Amino acid sequence: MSMYVKIAINIPTESHFTYSVPQALSGDAAVGKRALVPFGARKLTGYIIGFLSEPDFDDIRDILDILDSEPLFSSEDLAFYSWASSYYHYPLGKTLHDILPGGIDLKSDRLFKVAAGHKAPSNPLPEGQRKILDLLGAAPKGLSLKRLRRLLSGSPIRRDLAALLSANRVIAEEGLEQPEIRKKTEKVITLVAGRSVPARLSAVQQRVLSYLQEKGTACFPELRPFACNPSPVVHRLMEKGLVSLSEREVYRSSEESPEMSILNDIHLNDDQAAACGELESALSSRRFKPFLLHGVTGSGKTEVYFHAIKQALNSGGGALYLVPEIGLTPQLLSRVRNRFQGEEIAVIHSDIARGIRYDFWRRLQRGEIRLVVGARSALFAPLPNLRLIVIDEEHDSSYKQDVRMRYHARDLAVLRAKLQNAVIVLGSATPDMRTFYQARQGKYDCLSLPRRVENRPLPQVRIVDMKAEREETGRIPVLSRALITALEETLNDGSQALFFLNRRGFHTFLFCPDCGTVLFCPNCAVSLTLHAEANRLQCHYCDYAVKTPSLCPKCGGRDIQFYGAGTERLEKEILSHFPHIRTARMDRDTTARKGAHTRILKSFDRGEIDLLIGTQMITKGHDFHNVTLVGVIAADTALNLPDFRSAEKTFQLLTQVSGRGGRGRKEGQVIIQTINPDHFAIQRAKNHDYTGFHEEEILHRKSLGYPPFSRLIILQLSSLNEERGRREVEEAGRMARAFTREESSRTMPVEVIGPAEAPIAKIKGRYRWQIMLKSDNLQALHFLTRRLLTSAASRKLEIKVDVDPVNF
Ligand code: ADP
Ligand code: ZN
Repeated sequence: MSMYVKIAINIPTESHFTYSVPQALSGDAAVGKRALVPFGARKLTGYIIGFLSEPDFDDIRDILDILDSEPLFSSEDLAFYSWASSYYHYPLGKTLHDILPGGIDLKSDRLFKVAAGHKAPSNPLPEGQRKILDLLGAAPKGLSLKRLRRLLSGSPIRRDLAALLSANRVIAEEGLEQPEIRKKTEKVITLVAGRSVPARLSAVQQRVLSYLQEKGTACFPELRPFACNPSPVVHRLMEKGLVSLSEREVYRSSEESPEMSILNDIHLNDDQAAACGELESALSSRRFKPFLLHGVTGSGKTEVYFHAIKQALNSGGGALYLVPEIGLTPQLLSRVRNRFQGEEIAVIHSDIARGIRYDFWRRLQRGEIRLVVGARSALFAPLPNLRLIVIDEEHDSSYKQDVRMRYHARDLAVLRAKLQNAVIVLGSATPDMRTFYQARQGKYDCLSLPRRVENRPLPQVRIVDMKAEREETGRIPVLSRALITALEETLNDGSQALFFLNRRGFHTFLFCPDCGTVLFCPNCAVSLTLHAEANRLQCHYCDYAVKTPSLCPKCGGRDIQFYGAGTERLEKEILSHFPHIRTARMDRDTTARKGAHTRILKSFDRGEIDLLIGTQMITKGHDFHNVTLVGVIAADTALNLPDFRSAEKTFQLLTQVSGRGGRGRKEGQVIIQTINPDHFAIQRAKNHDYTGFHEEEILHRKSLGYPPFSRLIILQLSSLNEERGRREVEEAGRMARAFTREESSRTMPVEVIGPAEAPIAKIKGRYRWQIMLKSDNLQALHFLTRRLLTSAASRKLEIKVDVDPVNF
């Protein structure tokens, strides 16, 4: 009887493909393994995702090979990955390719190899050609152009390669490239038991043999003390039948050495103990149960996570602990290592080398590691017996991926926990509006830590109205008098300060210092964005536009001005007031180099810096005990983002940044500079009043029908040609509207908003637009999106889909 398999291939199509399995391979075929398949004239690798007993169409071709001895993913995890793929409208083959540790996807390609008869030339070759020859020499099966480019870090190689080809030093053949990442092995020398040792062994041979008699086995580097090159010695011994050679897998691991801090025995307070108790009983029931852990900054949430993780591990299960990209600091890692001594930990994030990630993946699959700590991509890690998922700072926007599959790790985590019967804890001081809403609806159990540990007070927050600080020229200064004075006091006191300025480069907003008006879109309740070239203000949701006014439309004020300064300008300004202050800046510019982020934090922690200035990078997770002053330079920057979540983002940022102050024995103070001193997000943050904020904001959301009262999907189109792109997006917009008018859509209405220019209207020469779909019926949204994608594909329109968008 023939066997058929369903295969997902890493190409942009939603469909799967059916192949037959020849008799010789039928024993090896299994879900989760890769198969080499013919695809048109090419050979590609695909992932086996299921079996069929009968062919579902004619003309089915055989698979050519099975590429793995063990599956790369389990059927259980496949169910989870498939769900993600369909929810985010991203093809399953591409999803699997992205999720699995990099570089294990193969396809046939033109491969370059050193020609068989090649000899070293009499004259030395140019350097470029020599480098290529060296690389090809080390890869007997050949390398593709793409791989060569990558290995030579993108330098132009076409000309050198052409020269090598025409001189017949290099040949090109169609073939299958070796995967970049494979398991790493080493040779092992084993003593053969029961052999009598012949008399005439050399001194070196004798020493190697006695070492093996003592150890049983050894690898080559171990034998270096006996001979610089142990290989000939081992071969002599093999010829004499005294030892044998074999291979074994070695695991690569990350080099980070843990910083050992003191193991302090923490006695849980009553609130923590109550939360831990609830989690314990949920964990012991071994069923899906979602929790929201709502605890103010410094309330000891991390201790609660640790407690639950320990229990999951003790009961023989696995645990997944996700933190925001920025929160994955050496400080946190050493805290985890310290707490889970003796437990192997897989640390997974984008900076971990691919070979190491691959080895972690395999060890997790085999159950050799049961604890994963990582950023969003770690959510996909294979944990055969998953009991617990912790999402720390669940409101954090770094859980959302905005390229390829645009998933939200928190939302997917809840789904994974449900599919795999695990407990999930979403923790935050400032939960996402939707998460808290769900908790209030009874969908999540709420655990709460309303107080800081040891009853430390939350910091005092003061609001400074920057309109009152206006100088004679009408300009608003960067620093208020209050903040300058407070910084002076802090320095005199030997304490440290943090200044926060969230300056997003592309956005400046227009406001009137006389009445505080910021110009908003009349349709969408988001601020208008300046397009300086066209001299107009524009809405990024619906494309509403007005000419940039010269007088305030509300009060007629003449001082209407753009507001906002970057971190660099701020640092200069501070140095002009305090020439001897030791400052450091932390933003995307200063942390571009690997390790820079950590270096700055460490040196701040050691007290080598008086004042740390930074963007939202400084707002999260850090536990500095000597910070007594936190300054927020312009609370309005986030408030006026062209985003319906701007109030929520502002509240979160202010609360998180305030939470960095007063974590030690000394009390902390926070100074917030703003031109909107009465805004409810700022007032509620001042009073540490999350619930009050939530209740006020939820009314706004309800009146405008924004999430959590609706769901959104954004469709993005881009084009190098502005005219053509605009035509296409308008066509897509018409199609969407036409679908919503059809009879079948009447009962499940979807609102189509736009097309409008994307917030960043042009990136790398591509013009960008977007269409927003809004509905309180999730099925209807997905149904419309699927129909649109199908008709768009037949018209060759490329649409990218962002489900539940966060950053736009
Ligand atoms: P959160 O995650 O809520 O911001 P953490 O768990 O980081 O808070 O705790 C803040 C600080 O308080 C840490 O230094 C932690 O070691 C300490 N801590 C936590 N729980 C207790 C406790 N019960 N008693 C004393 N200190 C505690
Ligand atoms: Zn609008």
